[in-house]
Amino acid sequence: MKCNTRLIHGGYSEDPATGAVSTPIYRSSTFHQHILGGEPKWEYARTGNPTRASLEKLIAELEGGVAGFAFASGSAAIHAVFSMFSSGDHFVVGSDVYGGTFRLINKVLKRFGMEFTVVDMQNSAAVEAAIQTNTKAIYLETPTNPLLQIADIEAIAKIAKAHGVKTVVDNTFATPYNQNPLQLGADVVVHSATKYLGGHSDVVAGLAVTNDEAIAKQLAFLQNSIGSVLGPDDSWLLQRGIKTLGARMRVHHENAQAIVDFLVNYPRVDRVLYPGLPDFPGHEIAAKQMKHFGAIVSFELKAGLSAKQFVENLKLIDLAESLGGIESLIEVPAVMTHGSIPREIRWKNGIKDELIRFSVGIEDEEDLLADLKQALDQL
Ligand SMILES: *Cc1c(COP(=O)(O)O)cnc(C)c1O
Repeated sequence: MKCNTRLIHGGYSEDPATGAVSTPIYRSSTFHQHILGGEPKWEYARTGNPTRASLEKLIAELEGGVAGFAFASGSAAIHAVFSMFSSGDHFVVGSDVYGGTFRLINKVLKRFGMEFTVVDMQNSAAVEAAIQTNTKAIYLETPTNPLLQIADIEAIAKIAKAHGVKTVVDNTFATPYNQNPLQLGADVVVHSATKYLGGHSDVVAGLAVTNDEAIAKQLAFLQNSIGSVLGPDDSWLLQRGIKTLGARMRVHHENAQAIVDFLVNYPRVDRVLYPGLPDFPGHEIAAKQMKHFGAIVSFELKAGLSAKQFVENLKLIDLAESLGGIESLIEVPAVMTHGSIPREIRWKNGIKDELIRFSVGIEDEEDLLADLKQALDQL
């Protein structure tokens, strides 16, 4: 089955009890056990719920893994993955990871004795140099948020394997439609399904997938033990969203390309960051490992022009956190999504105060371009 077909027919595409083509929402916390001490398929809904299971099967198929796990948020999925490890374990982490992941690492996981070295994942040699005897995993995002930096998943996974270390990839930005890290050698993929997979800015959810049976066992145990599971209603909503991922992504891509073409030629824009640009660092690796370059575009205005004024001038494009929804969302990372990262670290990593991140939606391209233009012209 090819990707678009799998998006629609993957998971349990028909309810075995009724033939319903949309997986029913099984709103039951517990299930009747007909035999005392038997091994019922369903017993208690934290451990397993048929609606959630359909979603979990679907994401496992989409990423080419052996098992998928649905969590109450992307952050909960990331936390569960790190919970496979212990005090004293060391991790190599990308310098441009999601702000909330950075917070989870620094304010939570470090308190439990986990150790982290932050490196630029664009530099595979630096990744290898950061590996210590107690290193257990390499954790990366590609493209990153908000600088869209590209890490070479295949090269890094190879380094990791040579050192007996696991590779974990946050695939939120690319989605399984554009990139499949497990096929490139990664061991675990995590998603904030809140973004493109849900796609309609109406559900907060997280997913994890692995192609390793031992890791799958551990994640199933941790998902049940920690308990930050996705409820049946949100599981259904997320699966509904995933069905149209392919159709949405095609329009996202078309619009993103039009926006990039406009911005690179617009005199008030200083710099456009987009992996699809031929002179973008990492363009060739992105072209190798991604089907398409995605629909997040970051840019900086010419010196002296105010990002604040620009985003407040917009009429159609929403000033809001998050990304990946059908509606265009724009934000200023230094103030919003990455505000929890200390300013000197932000600057060192290249996130200037005036950087703008644009999650290009699927509205008509002409309307998006007109809104950008009027907001820029007013500056
Ligand atoms: C949003 C996001 C997360 C966190 O996901 P939540 O669903 O908000 O908890 C993690 N990684 C990336 C890349 C994200 O964009």
